Amino acid sequence: MMKLSRGLLLLALATPVIAPLAAPADASAPLSKVPQSGWYRIAFGDFEVTALSDGTAPIPVEKRLTGSTPAKITAALTKAFLPPPFDTSVNAFLVNTGSKLVLIDAGTDGASGASVGKLLANLKAAGYAPEQIDEIYITHMHGDHIGGLLTAGKPTFANATVRAAKAEADFWLTQANMDKAPSEKKDLFKNAMATMNPLIAAGKFKPFDGPTDLVPGIKAVPAPGHTPGHTFYQVTSGGQTLVAWGDALVVASVQLGDPTVSVVVDNDIKGAVATRKAALADAAKNGYIVALAHVPFPGLGHLGAEGSSYRWYPLNYTFGPSR
Ligand SMILES: [Zn+2]
Repeated sequence: MMKLSRGLLLLALATPVIAPLAAPADASAPLSKVPQSGWYRIAFGDFEVTALSDGTAPIPVEKRLTGSTPAKITAALTKAFLPPPFDTSVNAFLVNTGSKLVLIDAGTDGASGASVGKLLANLKAAGYAPEQIDEIYITHMHGDHIGGLLTAGKPTFANATVRAAKAEADFWLTQANMDKAPSEKKDLFKNAMATMNPLIAAGKFKPFDGPTDLVPGIKAVPAPGHTPGHTFYQVTSGGQTLVAWGDALVVASVQLGDPTVSVVVDNDIKGAVATRKAALADAAKNGYIVALAHVPFPGLGHLGAEGSSYRWYPLNYTFGPSR
């Protein structure tokens, strides 16, 4: 018998699998309509970071922006090939430090439409059970960042401690603040209370105050403006740095060109603009990875300065975890 090399042997074994095309050339196939994979993992120093999609939602962003003119906003969206409404991503990030599993933000409660509320399914698809999560770091207490903390009124992540800035909890969970808020903003308070109060009652919420080292390799950095206790989470390992920005940048196609444009839910517009400008300048200067909640999934990339504006460079796609 002819002696085959290992490569040829594999080829010979594989040959029967390559069946002739059975179908005629004009056969149709049903459209799949199966959603995309909702997780994307990178190696990051000695850690792994997994972006988790909560889904996407068609948001009329042109109506949610302030600090510009409708014509300028339309021009920026047109230039970016994004006629509104277009699907906006809701991203969260899972950091495995090797000893702790830390989730940064928790997605929506799923009541915002059929195309969101997918974080838990995507966490499972990425290979984790919700009980494995040790800590959850909340950038701010808007519904698309905390909604997923509860499932049918119970903690979704049974063994996790939820952490957020004390300033954030004090603001959203104080009835007097809700009472004096304009009517269109009262729901933000109601939602925050409905999600956080059961977790506080269950002893699962532990606020921090100011810059705080949380677990080795992850620290909280105050970034107020979008909300009073809005927080960045800085992750470092093996000489690499990643910063999760929450909602300091929401509509990249508009705000990168003009960082003075804000979203109407920015609680303190001046503060939000100052935080955004400082964060953009720092990221462009230092070149670390930025993790964004609302740029297209997986929301991981770098920022570069171009005159007075910025450009988003999505992380190079890598099929398997790499360094
Ligand atoms: Zn958000």
